[in-house]
Amino acid sequence: MKIHEYQAKELLAAYGIAVPEGKVARTADEAFEIASTMCPCVIKAQVHSGGRGKAGGVKLANSPEEARDIAQKMLGMTLVTKQTGAEGRPVRSVLVAAAVEVDKEYYLSITTDSQRAGLVIVASAAGGTEIEETAAKNPEAIVQIPISVTEGFKTYEGIRAAQVLGLDDLLQKQLVFMLGAMTRLYLEKDCSLIEINPLVKTRDNRLLCLDAKINFDDNALFRHPDVLDLRDFSQEDAKEYKASCSDLNYVSLEGDIGCLVNGAGLAMATMDIIKNFGGSPANFLDVGGSATTERVKAAFEILLSDKNVRAIFVNIFGGIMKCDIIAEGLVQATREMGVSIPIVVRLEGTNVDAGRKIINDSGLSIISASDMADGARKAIEAAKGGRA
Ligand code: GDP
Ligand code: MN
Repeated sequence: MKIHEYQAKELLAAYGIAVPEGKVARTADEAFEIASTMCPCVIKAQVHSGGRGKAGGVKLANSPEEARDIAQKMLGMTLVTKQTGAEGRPVRSVLVAAAVEVDKEYYLSITTDSQRAGLVIVASAAGGTEIEETAAKNPEAIVQIPISVTEGFKTYEGIRAAQVLGLDDLLQKQLVFMLGAMTRLYLEKDCSLIEINPLVKTRDNRLLCLDAKINFDDNALFRHPDVLDLRDFSQEDAKEYKASCSDLNYVSLEGDIGCLVNGAGLAMATMDIIKNFGGSPANFLDVGGSATTERVKAAFEILLSDKNVRAIFVNIFGGIMKCDIIAEGLVQATREMGVSIPIVVRLEGTNVDAGRKIINDSGLSIISASDMADGARKAIEAAKGGRA
């Protein structure tokens, strides 16, 4: 799960990390009010994406009136950045923050290092909006410092990070404190990323967190209701949001074949086999082992609402999941939604005969497949003639 910059900064501040003074505004008048207390200020579009600076989502205002004008233009717009894809993200709020006189910009983050089964600090003296270019062209300028999750953060790891950034003694102390606090936040809230880019050295020689991004491990959200409260659905893919409400594992992709599968392994194998025969999956979708008719129906609705989907491939191996449940959901959803695109079904396993009977008796024109390869080929063929 992602949160906004202003929320991330509030969390960091609660852990004692220095951030510029600032407040979120949802209207231009609110921006004016806040700016009246802290000008000059920066107006920053709050969207779940980086790359805002280059896309016009970060602007300097020298007066409260200018802050209002900028906020007026930003609020309601759809910000398209390098990271959002063409659809962009809606700007529903802006952060009004006291402008900072920056001497130098650094990159600093903590993330999970699955290879070492621990955490890792990532630091670079070349921080700011060009960090992606640095990673591509000059990767040695970005340094990794592992942290043990069992032993926790150690001062010498912070000193090493300070050396990477080239900090003096005073700022080194601030960085060591900051990294200790970030590690605590990371572990206590089950984060998957805390990224500060840029971390800056101000003209008056302080370390300040100018931008912040915090992601959380979805699997641990159940034990952090305070974090769940920070969720902003307007920033999420509508189909992925609907899927999460129905407890479906769904990831939206670019292709034209909607896949409905039970089990993550089979779902991945289904995507592979479609690719193998020259097709392109529109999504990853695992309905899980214990899906009800309602969940299967919800899954179909998501696939059918995807304008790119030109054919659906249902690939079910009934183990715990029963084929007749899938068949029932499929028949109900297609009846109610008046489906006009071809549906290819491969059913195998528990209650397969009952499942096939439900489909046959429904009178719906469903293409049946004898195995996965057959199903993939038929789905690819069907997608060629599916809706435009
Ligand atoms: P991002 O582009 O989405 O990562 O947004 P950032 O919050 O990182 O802002 C982009 C850039 O704007 C930063 O790298 C800074 O160079 C600049 N910037 C943002 N806030 C301030 C500020 O208060 N003072 C100064 N001088 N520059 C700022
Ligand atoms: Mn940034």
